[in-house]
Amino acid sequence: MADTIADSPEKIIQVAGSITVGELAELLNLSVTTLIGELFKNGIIATINQKIDFETATIIVEELGLDVTLEKKEVATGPVREEHKLSDKAVERPPIVAVMGHVDHGKTSLLDAILETKTVEGEAGGITQHISAYQVTKNNRKITLLDTPGHEAFAALRQHGATLTDVVIIVVAADDGVKPQTVEAIRFAREANAKIVVAINKMDKETANPQLVKTQLATEHGLNPEEWGGDTIMVEVSAKTGQNLDKLLESVLLIADLEELKADEHVPAEGLVIEAHTETGRGSVVGLLVEHGKLHPGQYLVAGTSYGKVRTLLDFAGKAIKEAGPSTPVTVTGFKDLPQFGDQFNIVKSEKEARQATVANRLEREREAAETNVTSADILKLMSQKQEAADFNVIVKADVQGSLTSVIDSLRLIDTQGAVSLRIVGSGVGNISENDVHLAATEGTVIYGFNVELPPAVKRQAARDKVEVRLYKVIYELLDNAKESMEALIAPEVVETEVGALTIKGIFRTLKDEVICGGEVTSGKITPGLTARVIRGGEQLAEVEVTKVQRNQSEVKDVHEGDMCGLSLKTSKKLILEIDDKLEFFSRELVKRTLK
Ligand code: GDP
Repeated sequence: MADTIADSPEKIIQVAGSITVGELAELLNLSVTTLIGELFKNGIIATINQKIDFETATIIVEELGLDVTLEKKEVATGPVREEHKLSDKAVERPPIVAVMGHVDHGKTSLLDAILETKTVEGEAGGITQHISAYQVTKNNRKITLLDTPGHEAFAALRQHGATLTDVVIIVVAADDGVKPQTVEAIRFAREANAKIVVAINKMDKETANPQLVKTQLATEHGLNPEEWGGDTIMVEVSAKTGQNLDKLLESVLLIADLEELKADEHVPAEGLVIEAHTETGRGSVVGLLVEHGKLHPGQYLVAGTSYGKVRTLLDFAGKAIKEAGPSTPVTVTGFKDLPQFGDQFNIVKSEKEARQATVANRLEREREAAETNVTSADILKLMSQKQEAADFNVIVKADVQGSLTSVIDSLRLIDTQGAVSLRIVGSGVGNISENDVHLAATEGTVIYGFNVELPPAVKRQAARDKVEVRLYKVIYELLDNAKESMEALIAPEVVETEVGALTIKGIFRTLKDEVICGGEVTSGKITPGLTARVIRGGEQLAEVEVTKVQRNQSEVKDVHEGDMCGLSLKTSKKLILEIDDKLEFFSRELVKRTLK
């Protein structure tokens, strides 16, 4: 017996350019056999996985007499994610905070120390396994902490148009100062539009030098400490002794107040997938961060191409809860298969709706992949290349500190006339390392090595990640190369050369995009193909292009000073010329700029 769609709420179903028989059946809520039967009646022999085009699908829907209209889905460009518009009922929500910084500067220790002292009593002991987000309570207010997200994760979120983090705590060890990954973290935070709080860690150490850290951040990275009149909060802390951890959290809350972070509670729950893995006995275990609404056990969820019913809803400490509101990190089980990190999740009413939504999402993704034919890695690469148009990012490695300093100083001395900014993303003494290549790959950066080596394994990694490593033994050669690379990044200059002028003496015909007129050449030479500015009373009215030049009613190649001539001018919009308007003719050239 054929299924009916009487109970389906959908009347208009969006379909991409083509769809498989199975998918169409799913969307129409028909059995596959019914659909195959109908196709067969129309002379089409199809199997469940065969693709049929939009037109065929429309015919079948009509033949079946279904109360459904298929609509061709237009290509969506830009972020997949739709931005949630806050209602006027939106309420305050906890800030979402990420801890980032250079390796070994104490990210993990800081998170642990905060959790130890600040988790609601009884909860801390419950954390038995690694999860991706936590909540702490300070002054009776909650703060959501994300476990140091990897940079790939951040990039993936940005691609979805998501702004997961409100605040990034950048951890800098007071005894080590700003390091490549510190710089990277600052950049990621800025790109994610997150507010920055600096935690100057390891203050208990004798070698701690917080002033140096502040100076580095202020002079090289535009982060000016509040105490120096800037607007970046910097807190001197120690994960080891617990010094100033309260102050750090208070600073986060202060920012939350200034930012007026809000969320809607009374809407169907939605948010992001922040972790996903499978466990024997539990199936898919998925970490979600609720952004709006309240999530409950038993609800149907769709995230990207996966769906499921919330079987268990656990808070960050692994305790079963009945509901989770905005900014709450939770772990759910019940997804049929694993969603992807960064997928948006939504609530739907039924399993059927959930299935339909995942089919639609999958088709969308497949189509996007097919249409763009680029992978997410390519997109990231393109994004970084775009930035290179203004920035020249380099990592410098040298054999000894002295030569490193002189290479960096000389690079900084290259005068780019403000057209390119040189960013030293990282530097150090020693051979090129895997870490350098990794950093270069994420930053779209060239590695310069001076009197150092590129070990074979690192070379292979660089080739794989398409990172350029340039090795030199002579400093001038290195500098020449950097200069050439920067010149290549500068947009060429448009040079205009004036070649002639004319005064209008008569207007013969004015069309939508053309004017035929006559005039006297007052200087230079006028030829077809030239561009001219139309000047009246000292002001420029328009720019026109000369398509024809006439003298004594016949077309000529050029006219000179003192000649009376006829002109055909191409205009971009209707142009009413007047007697005595002036035309200034010029040629335009693109000239490659060079650096001194
Ligand atoms: P991560 O790589 O940034 O996560 O750094 P970890 O948290 O793993 O810390 C790196 C090392 O620094 C470990 O040996 C920690 O014990 C140590 N460490 C972290 N914070 C402090 C601190 O405040 N004071 C001191 N003395 N050592 C610290």
